[in-house]
Amino acid sequence: DYKEGGYHPVHIGETFNKRYRVLKKLGFGAFSTVWFCHDMFHNKFVAIKVQKSEESYYSAAEDEIEILDKIVDNIKTEEWKESIEEYNEPNNINSAHCLHMMDHFTFEGPHGKHIGMVFEVMGHNLLKVMKLYDWDGIPLPIARTLARQTLIGLDYLHRLCNVIHTDIKPENAILCPNEKQLMEHLDTIPDHFKTSIQGPIQSSMFFSKEQNKINKRKKKNKPKKKENKNTEEDKEEDEKKILDESVQVKLCDFGNGCWIDHHFTSNIQTRQYRSPEVILGGEYNETCDLWSYACMVFELITGDYLFHPKKRDDCSKEDDHIAFIIELIGKPELKWLKQCKRYRKFFTTRGRMKKIFHHKIWKLKEILIDKYCFKEEEAEPLADFLMQALQWKNEDRKSAQEMLRHPWLSMPSNYDYLVEGSDDDESQKEDDDTASWVTVSSDEE
Ligand code: ATP
Ligand code: MG
Ligand code: MG
Repeated sequence: DYKEGGYHPVHIGETFNKRYRVLKKLGFGAFSTVWFCHDMFHNKFVAIKVQKSEESYYSAAEDEIEILDKIVDNIKTEEWKESIEEYNEPNNINSAHCLHMMDHFTFEGPHGKHIGMVFEVMGHNLLKVMKLYDWDGIPLPIARTLARQTLIGLDYLHRLCNVIHTDIKPENAILCPNEKQLMEHLDTIPDHFKTSIQGPIQSSMFFSKEQNKINKRKKKNKPKKKENKNTEEDKEEDEKKILDESVQVKLCDFGNGCWIDHHFTSNIQTRQYRSPEVILGGEYNETCDLWSYACMVFELITGDYLFHPKKRDDCSKEDDHIAFIIELIGKPELKWLKQCKRYRKFFTTRGRMKKIFHHKIWKLKEILIDKYCFKEEEAEPLADFLMQALQWKNEDRKSAQEMLRHPWLSMPSNYDYLVEGSDDDESQKEDDDTASWVTVSSDEE
C-alpha cells in the first residue's frame, strides 16, 4: 500500500511540518499509519496519524478533522460541565473520554497529498487488553469502569457534538498509558534519532500540563509496589494491576464518524457490532452506536463476541446474524420490518425468515448464567443494562445519557461474581458454544 494514493513512506528520523520528528511506528489501520514523534516546538512526545493520500481518503480525513475539531471545541461548554458534575468524574472534565486532536497539517509526499493528525500518545486498545486476560473476559469491576467511561464518551459525542461514531468496537477504545509503557517506547529508539530532544527525558513530556497535574495527584495516593519484576509473566501481572488501579479509556478513530443530521453512507459498522437496521437497510441514528456498545461490553466481560455470524451452506452471514438477533431479543415487529429497504432479502412479507425457520430463544440473562456461570444477582442487572440498547427499533433504545443512570454502572466492585467452582471449569464454556446458539434450518431437519 506504499504507492500512489496509498500510505506515505514515512522514514524514522524525518520531520513533519518542520516540527514533528518521527521516532517509531505505533500502529496502522486500513486508512493510515500512526507514528510516535517528538514535537520539537514544545519538547513533548505525540502520536501522528498519517492518512493515505488518495482523493477519497484525503476528503475522508477532512471530514474526520471537522469532527475532531467539534470534539475539542465543545468540551468547554456549560452544558458539558454540568453533565460531568452529574457523572462525578472530575478528572475527565477535559477529555470526555474521547481522544482529542492537538494539531493537524497537510504535506506533499512522493505518493500525493497527505493529512497528518496529532494526538497524545496512548497505550493499549481494548482488544489488546482482552488478550492480556487470555480472552476469558476482563474482570467485572474493571470492565464496568471501562463500560461507564466509554458510555460517557458516547453521551458526549451524541448529545454535545451531534456525532455518530459508527465504528464502536474494542480496537477503537484506547487506554491512557502508564508512565512505564511510555518510557519503554523510548528504550527501543536508537540514540542518534533522539538528538532533537532537549534535556533529560521525563514522563511529563508525554502529557499536557493538566494531565501532568492529575498524574501527580494519583501518584501521591498510590501504594508502593514490589520492585525487580523481569519475566514476561510478571510484566503482564503488572499491567493488569495498573488496570485495576487507574484505568482510563478514550474512544478513538473518528474516521468513520458522521453527523446525526448528515450521514455519509448507509454502509457502516464492523460486522459483529452492526445494528439490525443497518443490516436490513433501515434508517439509522445515533442509537446504532449503543447497539455496538452493548456488543462491545458483553465481549469485554465474557471474552466472546455477542454476535459472531458465519456463512453456512444454506444461508448467508447476514441471515445467520439476523437469526442470532432473533434468538436473543425475539422477533421484530412486521410494521418496523417493512420500513427497512432490504427486508425482503431475508424475510417473507409475513415476517418469517426465508432461510432459517427455527429459533431457539436464549435470553441474555440466561446466557450469562448458563454459559458464563454468572451469579443470578450479577447477571440480572447486567442483562437489564445491555438490553436497553439491544432493541430492534431506534426509538426503543435508551440514549447514552439515560443508560448512564442505570444501577449496573454503579454497583460495588465485586470480584466474586461467578458461581463457585466455575472459574476453572473450561470445558463448560467450550461445549456450550455449539449448544442452543445453533439455529436449525429446514434442510438440516
Ligand atoms: P481503521 O482501519 O480501524 O479505520 P484507521 O486507519 O482509521 O484504522 P486508527 O484506528 O485511528 O486508524 O489507528 C490505528 C491504530 O493505531 C489503532 O488501533 C491504535 O492501535 C494505534 N493508535 C491510534 N492512535 C494512537 C495514539 N494516539 N497513540 C497510540 N496508538 C495509537
Ligand atoms: Mg481503528
Ligand atoms: Mg478508522
